[in-house]
Amino acid sequence: MGKASPYCRVTCLDYGEEQGFTNLFYADKPSEQFVFPIPGFYLETDTGSKILFDTGCSPDFKQTWGLLNEFMPYVRPSFMLDQLKKMGVTPQDIDYVIMSHLHYDHAGGLSSFRGAKAKIVVQKAEAQVAMSTIYTNRSDVAYAGYIGTDFQFSDLNWMVIDGDYDLLPGVHLLFLPGHAPGEMGARIETKKNGDLIIASDAVYTAESFGPPAKLPGAAINLDDYVKSVEKIRRIAGLYEAKVIFGHDSAQKLAMFPEWWD
Ligand SMILES: [Zn+2]
Repeated sequence: MGKASPYCRVTCLDYGEEQGFTNLFYADKPSEQFVFPIPGFYLETDTGSKILFDTGCSPDFKQTWGLLNEFMPYVRPSFMLDQLKKMGVTPQDIDYVIMSHLHYDHAGGLSSFRGAKAKIVVQKAEAQVAMSTIYTNRSDVAYAGYIGTDFQFSDLNWMVIDGDYDLLPGVHLLFLPGHAPGEMGARIETKKNGDLIIASDAVYTAESFGPPAKLPGAAINLDDYVKSVEKIRRIAGLYEAKVIFGHDSAQKLAMFPEWWD
């Protein structure tokens, strides 16, 4: 048998828009309200594996978000299940759910995978801090993104990894701590469009990427944050990869039914 083709095709999913503060994204800006997109990603490998990258916000956000609903409202809801339905995909079809991290705008759709075969891939550092945060009621801003009802299920098929990890041919997971303790991105190999790096919240926007990297207003560790941005820059240079930012309204994405293939 020959080596499995490494190639994937990737489409971006619309998980709606949230309102936030500019100084959360950029430490050097005044606190002004703005609206940012929440993208997710769906990947198919040449060998037939189906992979979801992030799950967006919870359909129960009105009940579970608390004060976020007042100050960082989900101004245009768009849920994972509806996005999958548009593609004719159900949660039962998915083999892997890659969790960039467990903040509420990324982990809110996980309950749809309870009892399903999908492996929920998460970094050890992320799972540890998310769990300890909800059990200890930490409230400093860098810990404020975790809502226990998003991910605290014993019937999810967790797959805990620690560091960079080659998940499948063409799907290379990148450990990018800083924004969150176990922030994770991915380098995806496509045939026509070359390599893509899904940076998620390791880099919010093109402005955050620089160079030089622009510091966010809240991060679990700013030294790690800068190292992770530079890691992305290095890998992007090595593979001539296109970097996809976490919440950049100006970046053009291949939204379903378009694909990067
Ligand atoms: Zn986010």
